[in-house]
Amino acid sequence: MPHEITTDVLVAGAGPCGLMLANELGRRGVRCLLVDPKPGTAFNPQANATQARTMEHFRRLGFAQEIRFLGLPADHPTDIAYFTRFAGHELARLALPTAREAVSRIRTLGGSWSAAELPHRISQKFVEAVLLRHARALPSCDVRFEWRLEDFEEVDDGIRATVRPAGGDGDAVAVRARYLVGADGARSPIRRKLGIEWTGMTGVQRDFMGGRMFAVYLRAPTLREQMPHPPAWMHVTVNHERRAFMAAVDGVSEYAFHAAVHPHENAEDWTEADARRVFAQAFGRDIPIEVLSVGTWVAGHSLVAQRLRQGRVFIGGDAAHLFTPTGGLGYNTAVEDAVNLGWKLAHVVRGQAGEALLDSYEPERLPAAQRNTGYARRFADSVGLFAALPELEEPGPGGDAARAAASAHLDAHARLEFNIPGVTFGTRYDGSPAIVPDGSSPPPDEPNAYTPSACPGGRAPHAWLDDGRSLYDSFHFEWTLLVLGTDAPDTAAFERAAAQRGMDLQVVRHAVPQLRELYEAPLALIRPDQIVAWRGHVASQADAVLARAGGFGARGC
Ligand SMILES: Cc1cc2nc3c(=O)[nH]c(=O)nc-3n(C[C@H](O)[C@H](O)[C@H](O)COP(=O)(O)OP(=O)(O)OC[C@H]3O[C@@H](n4cnc5c(N)ncnc54)[C@H](O)[C@@H]3O)c2cc1C
Repeated sequence: MPHEITTDVLVAGAGPCGLMLANELGRRGVRCLLVDPKPGTAFNPQANATQARTMEHFRRLGFAQEIRFLGLPADHPTDIAYFTRFAGHELARLALPTAREAVSRIRTLGGSWSAAELPHRISQKFVEAVLLRHARALPSCDVRFEWRLEDFEEVDDGIRATVRPAGGDGDAVAVRARYLVGADGARSPIRRKLGIEWTGMTGVQRDFMGGRMFAVYLRAPTLREQMPHPPAWMHVTVNHERRAFMAAVDGVSEYAFHAAVHPHENAEDWTEADARRVFAQAFGRDIPIEVLSVGTWVAGHSLVAQRLRQGRVFIGGDAAHLFTPTGGLGYNTAVEDAVNLGWKLAHVVRGQAGEALLDSYEPERLPAAQRNTGYARRFADSVGLFAALPELEEPGPGGDAARAAASAHLDAHARLEFNIPGVTFGTRYDGSPAIVPDGSSPPPDEPNAYTPSACPGGRAPHAWLDDGRSLYDSFHFEWTLLVLGTDAPDTAAFERAAAQRGMDLQVVRHAVPQLRELYEAPLALIRPDQIVAWRGHVASQADAVLARAGGFGARGC
């Protein structure tokens, strides 16, 4: 074991953020040491939903299909269903495509769902395993579980840090790195050491999704046959006694069950017997379960760090923002942080971008975190402040009326929280120093509707090509200059300016008029993260455009 390791980027934390970052860096041949004190990827299911934009990033990296067919069986429904109890009245249901249907359905959709991928309902534990396998296959990535970042300091030309085997009794190893990334979770020792405080709201109390939650990872082999309703992916109970939700994990017998803990209860002391008791309340009667793990967590956060960077140290994922899980945005926002930071760090390390490119991470991702935590809070209010009256479970006209009112609310709520193309595709980086505005206005930011727009600063509008490929599959892995239509201007100025700066730019031509109309310009510069950096009608400003987008200095645009 060497007593000093030299690397380009030291990453603390091998959750989704750190693992995705390792993939972005490793795919570009940048050396990365990733340490985490855990023995391996998550055992507990944790996040349940991979948003469509995250799936598009997995597609860009080449493993979306692999992830699409993990977790639930390909033909398992992914409906979201609301019940008084799992064996009680069904109140509302949002039907969604199975994994197999999602692959073909997306090719037929347009408008808000104009995308390369649909969302996928899968436990985070399965995603992490794929991210780890791909990171480990990259020669420049050194992933070490059971190693902890112990300390760090910034020195003139980099970071000096100490990592140590997690047990604490092994020898410490010194690390020299150019940059450090804290993907070290909600309690982030890195954020704390930097003295970065949280901003936002916490401690919000709601009947559901506001306060302590009791999590049970369980096996219930007879649940499907004992439940008098069609199978679903997400099951939510709405009754006066206790609110809960449960995600199907393997589509056979494993479930991630989470119940609201009342303010007077102390779930820290709850045992397996309590898990059975609380699960039986939600189901409506006792059924056989095997408890795989129990734990507690707190819902009701919408917190964002004051800053995402100090010098050569960056933070991302839960270290930088803490969500209430309504809408399923915490892990997805963590992945987008990693995507944003990954290509920028890699290009700077490889000398293909100016150091100033890194100044765009915080102004791009901090507003995104504020936006997404805000949406999650709105979803939590919509479902968690809905009063579950005792009448919901009563027979007769009074009960029928209460259930009809609940159904109307929950039907609308399900669409608000789970049909969110606007949230997933609509993140924008307006005002970023790395985006070249063109004077156009971005489309409105709405959770449930997305308007494709090539207005610089947003996700590149998607289309399916005549040969059946996704437009994104035609993009270069690094910079793409899209040349659209048949009368597009000469692009030599871009090619020359990119070559002078060492930027890896590829010109990609599509003659079909629909793409020219969609982008409202014949030229569009697409970043490695598929964000439109610039669009225009002439290439004469190429040098200034690439200077700004690549962090080489603004040069007057
Ligand atoms: C019940 C529940 C349901 C959820 N559902 C969803 C959902 O549907 N969709 C969604 O998007 N999100 C969801 N989330 C949130 C999601 O799980 C997190 O947002 C996600 O795990 C964040 O990823 P991360 O990589 O930033 O942090 P983490 O996954 O927390 O990883 C941080 C890692 O840092 C490591 N670490 C800590 N200290 C050190 C150190 N000193 N050195 C090295 N490593 C260190 C930790 O061991 C840990 O592995 C849910 C969360 C909960 C609790």
